[in-house]
Amino acid sequence: MIGIIFGPPGSGKGTQAARLQEDLGIHHLSTGAILRGEVARGTALGKEVGRIMAAGDLVPDDLIVDVVRARLPEAERGVGALLDGFPRTVAQAQALDRMLADEGHRLSFIVALDVPEEDLEARLLHRAQVEGRTDDTREVIAERMHEYHKLTKAVLDHYREQGVRIDTIDGTGTPDEVFERIRAAVRGISSG
Ligand code: AMP
Repeated sequence: MIGIIFGPPGSGKGTQAARLQEDLGIHHLSTGAILRGEVARGTALGKEVGRIMAAGDLVPDDLIVDVVRARLPEAERGVGALLDGFPRTVAQAQALDRMLADEGHRLSFIVALDVPEEDLEARLLHRAQVEGRTDDTREVIAERMHEYHKLTKAVLDHYREQGVRIDTIDGTGTPDEVFERIRAAVRGISSG
């Protein structure tokens, strides 16, 4: 199974993907977490992307596609992989489609978290206090939302046109409530 957990910044993708990994054994692959690890370790890649991430911009497609290409085969083993934060542009989606096609695989499902715009900033500012993510400031959040609307939302249309199953999930309420909604939807997928 290869799935995508999709949604704007602050919609709860990371939280829910971690729970799905625990519950279903599906491998949570977060490009944001990978990049933050590279920045923290001060690797060449981390040095290249640190400033871009701090500004709330997207890192170049070819760079992030290489990151995913290097990790996808391992992540797909077993139950499969749940992509969080990737693909974020149509070009990335096309690159993913090619990677999967080369292996004879295709995308199984998309879970799209739906949270009202006005809740997202409050959630991210709260996360800044709890987790200390440096890109959760008002100014950088605004840039990340801008990138989401300008480039990332179109990824859903790309997959809608391909007929990929997209479950839109109400992402409001407690993490437990959201998780139950996702689990009900994903259960439907694995039973066909
Ligand atoms: P996230 O944790 O998914 O919110 O990602 C944090 C930051 O990492 C983003 O604001 C981007 O700067 C960068 N990033 C993560 N995934 C991608 C991607 N697929 N394409 C471009 N930039 C990404």
